[in-house]
Amino acid sequence: MRSLQGKIILVYLALAALAVGLSLIALLEINLIARKTEAGSKVAEFFDATLELRRFEKNHFLYGQPQDLQENTHYARLAIDLLQRDREAFVALISPTGALNLEHDLTRYGRLMAAHAQSPDNETLATEVRALGYRIVTAGETLAAKERQNLRDALAKHQRNLLVSVSAVAGLLLLAGLFLGRWVTRPLKEMEASMEAVAHGQLTRLSLDISERELASLTQAFNHVLDELERRQHTLVRAEKLASLGTLLSGVAHELNNPLSNISSTAQILNEDANFASEIHRELLTDIDHETRRAATIVRSLLDYARDRNFHSQPVDLAELIEETLRFLKTLKPTGVEMKLHVPAGLTVAADRPRLQQALLNLIKNALEAMGNYGELSIEVCRRKAGLSDEATMLAGSCRPGAAVVDLTVSDTGPGIPPEAVPRIFDPFFTTKPVGYGNGLGLFIVHEIIDEHGGCIGAENLPEGGARFSIRLPIGDPQTTQPKHSTQ
Ligand code: ADP
Repeated sequence: MRSLQGKIILVYLALAALAVGLSLIALLEINLIARKTEAGSKVAEFFDATLELRRFEKNHFLYGQPQDLQENTHYARLAIDLLQRDREAFVALISPTGALNLEHDLTRYGRLMAAHAQSPDNETLATEVRALGYRIVTAGETLAAKERQNLRDALAKHQRNLLVSVSAVAGLLLLAGLFLGRWVTRPLKEMEASMEAVAHGQLTRLSLDISERELASLTQAFNHVLDELERRQHTLVRAEKLASLGTLLSGVAHELNNPLSNISSTAQILNEDANFASEIHRELLTDIDHETRRAATIVRSLLDYARDRNFHSQPVDLAELIEETLRFLKTLKPTGVEMKLHVPAGLTVAADRPRLQQALLNLIKNALEAMGNYGELSIEVCRRKAGLSDEATMLAGSCRPGAAVVDLTVSDTGPGIPPEAVPRIFDPFFTTKPVGYGNGLGLFIVHEIIDEHGGCIGAENLPEGGARFSIRLPIGDPQTTQPKHSTQ
């Protein structure tokens, strides 16, 4: 049995079945004792009747009173009636023949008493009556003694059974306690020890080698909390680093902006001066101007990143946003690249539209660049509920499990991401492009934007080749969606 609840129910049912079974047995025994007591009272009544019969027999022999004879006859009749009416009780104590003989004796006794009443001086008859009366009383006495012994035996048996039942219940309770202790307390104690380690700063994962379903899911949830804790710790450190980097960048970018535009305009002026520039000088000045502009573009992206724009959340129709973004990039898309879109109409999220568009632009641009002239770019959007298990593929962000989210993926059929680059792909200035071709800020900015929206992002290589970037965004409410933190 894999579930703790099942095991507890099993123990409970076993105990309940034992209790019911033992109660039924006790009830049957009490019933038996009650029947024996009743039989005993009948036998006692019979014995009393035989004693009375003897008493009036003696009185009759002594005083010859007709009432004594009447009483004697009455008790003889009563004894026969009792014997016939409760034959079963008597047969159980003496055999059926014994009961029949006793009845014959009583009938014969009645006849002899009647004969003796006719001839009171007949001593032989009187002796015969006395002997028969004595035999009847002795039989009654034996019957009563046997019945009492039976009752004592039944009571002793009942006591023994009760003792065995109590011991069985105590034993089973002990066993149940031991099993529950093994099933519940031990794993809980192990968890407690691991949690204590966590309290002391060690993020040790709990072992998942637990067969009970409830404890296994508790362990899984606990491990998930630890994962989340570790991820948040990592994000916090990253955010702190980025905050200082942002301050530094904005300072440097401001300082660089003016000299760069001065260099660019000076180069242009010199280039336009026909007296000054020969052909070779012109080419060199064009190179200076070109590189200066490139440097200015990088500085602009840094300033863009560092600028604290207001986060304005509004309902954004994803199908519309993707369509518009693709329109912007129309000129960049080579004819050999095919587009595949799976975007349900009317699906909205609460987001800052320009920022989300910026993130999409960066991802699509990267995919187009990676594919070159031929390939397939596919964008898929679907609404779902974030689960626990699929969080592992999401590298960075703060997605809450169980929340209603939208998953957006951008996949391409390019060469894929170099495996060693995957863990660092969202870091600022990380690029695999040759010097002068990439600044390594595109994915970093995407990551920051998604994080601001309370979402998460992941990158992976597809088994069939190519790369896939997955974004998960909470559906959110435009009224309440605020940026997680604002970048400086
Ligand atoms: P940049 O494009 O300036 O290098 P990015 O931050 O946009 O900066 O990208 C960082 C790196 O991620 C790129 O240099 C590239 O190696 C890798 N990358 C991004 N998108 C893809 C993609 N679709 N396929 C393969 N590699 C990619």
